[in-house]
Amino acid sequence: MTDPLIRLDGLSRRFDTGGGLLKAPRSMMAVRDVSLSIAPGEVLGVVGESGCGKSTLARLVLRLIEPTSGRVTFDGTDLTALRPGALRTARRRMAMVFQDPYSSLDPRYTLAEVLAEPFVVQRRPVAQDALTEMLDAVGLPSAMLGSHPHQLSGGQRQRVGIARALALRPDFVVLDEPTASLDVSIQAQIIDLLSDLRSRMGLTYLFISHDLGLVRYFCDRVVVMYLGAVVEVLPRADAAPRHPYTRALIDSGFAPDPSLRRQIAPLSGEIPSPFNLPPGCTFAGRCPRATDLCRRQRPPLEGEGDHPVACFHPY
Ligand code: SF4
Repeated sequence: MTDPLIRLDGLSRRFDTGGGLLKAPRSMMAVRDVSLSIAPGEVLGVVGESGCGKSTLARLVLRLIEPTSGRVTFDGTDLTALRPGALRTARRRMAMVFQDPYSSLDPRYTLAEVLAEPFVVQRRPVAQDALTEMLDAVGLPSAMLGSHPHQLSGGQRQRVGIARALALRPDFVVLDEPTASLDVSIQAQIIDLLSDLRSRMGLTYLFISHDLGLVRYFCDRVVVMYLGAVVEVLPRADAAPRHPYTRALIDSGFAPDPSLRRQIAPLSGEIPSPFNLPPGCTFAGRCPRATDLCRRQRPPLEGEGDHPVACFHPY
């Protein structure tokens, strides 16, 4: 079996808030005990509703924020143990494409300056050929190098964001909702581009999205998160979901393909406050299959080979 390119072991992140004159300090676990691995060349999707911790997880993987506990291993190196200089060197092989192509590009810079940023951060000479090559790879003409972001459409800006991420020829790219702020017709073009670049450059992706249909279309495996924890790992994009939350995501319209919809209750009910999680299964208040056991105990993520699920009564 191939060694994973990325491995997460028991990764957790707590955020503390408040603690002033009028507010008592509170804390929440944005990511709870996440363990998973990504093989070289694989596209792993992470899906869940807003606030489920998927974007925090993306930042933890690149160590853009520090974990409260747990470890991230990249190609055999423990990233969480690296000092700043060694971490910067390791990051040459990793990159991130952000959700919002409007705010992620500095409006004062030309595209040439935007694309040169990764070289500057890594203290490497700017290779002009590489800038032209990367624009070409994302389907933009080199004549645009002198343009500013405000002169571009949303789709063109996201292409520049992708070109910047790939400028140093990384092996691993985190895609944090890269199409969420784009029109549907442009979304399809960006997904096709990412797919094409993956094949041509041998890339490994971690694809973050709230759209289960899109994730199932684009990814090899799918991790489903709920309130900071992994509740199911689909071993193939077309595998039948076993967790009630994954099925509810599909039934609630997160998957546009009607053939995937099932005769179960749609996703409804209040999400518990992350500052005050219930003692048992965190999905129990919204789950059509919940029993007393579910309300008393938290189900572990386990079972059936490469298709683990955190549920006492899976489908
Ligand atoms: S453990 Fe119980 S409440 Fe939680 S998802 Fe499974 S059936 Fe529903």
